[in-house]
Amino acid sequence: MTDIEIPSEQWAQVVEKSGGPVVYKKIPVKKPSPDEVLINVKYSGVCHTDLHAMMGDWPLPTKLPLVGGHEGAGVVVAKGELVKDVEIGDHAGLKWLNGSCLACSFCMQADEPLCPHALLSGYTVDGSFQQYAIAKAAHVARIPKECDLDAVAPVLCAGITVYKSLKESGARPGQHVAIVGAGGGLGSMAIQYARAMGLRVIGIDGGEEKGQSCKSLGAEVYVDFTSSADIVRDVKAATPDGLGPHAVLLLAVSEKPFQQATEYIRSRGTVVCIGLPAGAYLKAPVFDTVVRMISIKGSYVGNRQDTQEALDFFKRGMIKVPYKTVGLSELQDVYKLMQKGKIVGRYVVDTSR
Ligand SMILES: [Zn+2]
Ligand SMILES: [Zn+2]
Repeated sequence: MTDIEIPSEQWAQVVEKSGGPVVYKKIPVKKPSPDEVLINVKYSGVCHTDLHAMMGDWPLPTKLPLVGGHEGAGVVVAKGELVKDVEIGDHAGLKWLNGSCLACSFCMQADEPLCPHALLSGYTVDGSFQQYAIAKAAHVARIPKECDLDAVAPVLCAGITVYKSLKESGARPGQHVAIVGAGGGLGSMAIQYARAMGLRVIGIDGGEEKGQSCKSLGAEVYVDFTSSADIVRDVKAATPDGLGPHAVLLLAVSEKPFQQATEYIRSRGTVVCIGLPAGAYLKAPVFDTVVRMISIKGSYVGNRQDTQEALDFFKRGMIKVPYKTVGLSELQDVYKLMQKGKIVGRYVVDTSR
């Protein structure tokens, strides 16, 4: 094998100040530390979190200047001397959890997203909106060679996140899961993972276009909040006994659906929060929560095993991600569409243009 040539400079989209915009410019290529790999990122998905990172509207501060992005799929081109199980030329993914300590009580129990020393790609460390990105070898996603790097990119955050949340919901094959925000990037994948896991899907979102997208991906019922006179009634009516879904995934980026979910969840059901509307609070009637034994919980990305499982569903052809590819140079335009709520499916940036 001939040596892979690594340039000293590369193109990147850089957040220079909180609030943005991103600046498309050349920056140096870094060298991996002993436990790290350098990934030549070919494609990166664009996630809502990247917009929050640029705007700086979450309670957790980002590094600055910052290269965002945490759905980077590419090829390993260099590695530190301690890295034994990843080879040069392997396909690998940079995900939200860039690294963790591997020694705390959370890491030891495979809850590494909860590690107090976690490194977050495109947030506390530079991410995938550049041509060459650094990641801790222990945490890079091992991408099977048969997966196209553009199509697989959105699995690295959206896929892992929704797959994990379905596991956390406890819903079993044949049961109903309502997905709020089913027409967005996370939602379109959640529908397919749910179907692949044997669950029946009620998609909730706004507008005709999103409805068609949900139905085509496998939602049995679509509830349109822009035209429904009574969302709670409609969601309950979508289950055969009228008692509501066994689980609700909240992928919405506004607060209101978070208040509503406990009204249509089935007794003994689980409401799982995944989306992160800025500054939002959860509110639920204590009486109902108690006498109907409702569980309300959060689900946050996934561990290394969840990552490989989510990729395996994709490899087996069970997850088709609707995506549109644009150049890395056009990232700011993607953010503009995102701010208007105009995105159906996922945007993937090609780092070569
Ligand atoms: Zn993400
Ligand atoms: Zn840890």
